Amino acid sequence: MTQERGFFVSPADVSAIRLRCATCGAATTIPIQKLSDERRIGLDVSRACPYCGIPSGINADTREFAELTDFSVLLGKIGETLEGRNLELSFQVECGEREAG
Ligand SMILES: [Zn+2]
Repeated sequence: MTQERGFFVSPADVSAIRLRCATCGAATTIPIQKLSDERRIGLDVSRACPYCGIPSGINADTREFAELTDFSVLLGKIGETLEGRNLELSFQVECGEREAG
């Protein structure tokens, strides 16, 4: 049986994003302040893993590449965009937890 628990995270609460190699688990953490650097994000999402050498599968000049870099840049700016506004935006995060038995 799975017990679901959720909570909300505001963009202001996000301090970094993590890019993790699905093959070997090596990870890069990018501070939120660096997300507006589209060139850096582009390099991080499109390079091969520096540990196992497996390509990310995201190639420059593709729709996926543009979506990932655009999302990162927007995530980096959204807290600033909403600052001082009468609007709060948050992400709902679901946490599944296995019960014993
Ligand atoms: Zn790897």
